Amino acid sequence: MKRKDFLKKAALGGIAGSAILTSCGSNIEDKAPAIISNKKYKWKMVTTWPPNFPVVGEIANLMSEWIYTMSGGRMKIEVYGGGELVPALESFDAVSIGAAEMGCGASYYWVGKVPASQFFTTIPFGMNAQQMAAWLIGAGGMDLWNEVYAPFDLIPFAGGNTGVQMGGWFNKRIDSIDDLKGLKMRIPGMGGKVLNRAGGAAVLVAGGEIYTSLERGVIDATEWIGPYHDYKMGFHKIAKYYYTPGWHETGSQLEFFANKTLFENLPKDLQIIIETATMRAQAWVLAEFDAKNGRYLKKIKEESEVQVLDYPTDVLSKLRVYTNEVIEELIETDALSKKVFTHLHNFRKEINDWSKLTEKVFYNDLM
Ligand code: CA
Repeated sequence: MKRKDFLKKAALGGIAGSAILTSCGSNIEDKAPAIISNKKYKWKMVTTWPPNFPVVGEIANLMSEWIYTMSGGRMKIEVYGGGELVPALESFDAVSIGAAEMGCGASYYWVGKVPASQFFTTIPFGMNAQQMAAWLIGAGGMDLWNEVYAPFDLIPFAGGNTGVQMGGWFNKRIDSIDDLKGLKMRIPGMGGKVLNRAGGAAVLVAGGEIYTSLERGVIDATEWIGPYHDYKMGFHKIAKYYYTPGWHETGSQLEFFANKTLFENLPKDLQIIIETATMRAQAWVLAEFDAKNGRYLKKIKEESEVQVLDYPTDVLSKLRVYTNEVIEELIETDALSKKVFTHLHNFRKEINDWSKLTEKVFYNDLM
């Protein structure tokens, strides 16, 4: 049959066609809810970010809008920035006990509750955003994440990635590993432990105090995120060197999480609407980070005297050795961390072989 005839026949056969679909498509109908309830749900989402924080706070607001529209107004989620309903770092507990139904943050903030959580954000010399998504969504990483959160009555969702971050702002050059000795740097998480092992001093400074601390020399260096957020912080006005790459955050995965019991009690269609919105968030966040970072890197170069420098290879090699030591110590003492890391590590070996053949060649030779 010619294509034109086929299209004509298909159009005319619309009614007969739908009859066939009804008889053959029982699987689809079985899965659809028999009755769409009009019950309305009003949920609260707490976040670890300041209200409306660029990209990561914005996505929480967008999620709320998308879910409201997709559910035909049946589900309304009120978003609270860190400190508005509960302190930022109490989001995990708040959702765990059901004081808020959903949360938004990064799993490595919950390392004090469950050390294995950090593997679902990033580890130093870890995977990039594309590989993290492959692990979580395509290779069973989400199952492990669910396992780690289940004892807290939480269910996690992948909800964006920052992409490779920058290595930080310095006022002295880092030419050898010895230049890190005695260096006071604002660097969180496992990266901080690695810096300490190199003789530096990782310090915790709240977001709002980093600029002043660096300006006054209370700290010698800081990392933050990437050019977009760093520009807004103004670090290019007070630091000479901007080092790359963010060896400590090679693609930080972000998260949404819900109270598991409350989520599972939702009608099935609302559950899928939430899951679908998080997948849209997963794509939106990385695209937004990448697009903005390119633009703001240009602005930093044009508007300041900052030198963008690569960490020397031997500095990175040594930091990688320290990273392995830090991870070894962790997994020796924590069985769940060992389980998650082993899975991640095996997957990483597999995907690195693939990435080296393709992405890496592109970046090295074709870009
Ligand atoms: Ca960072």
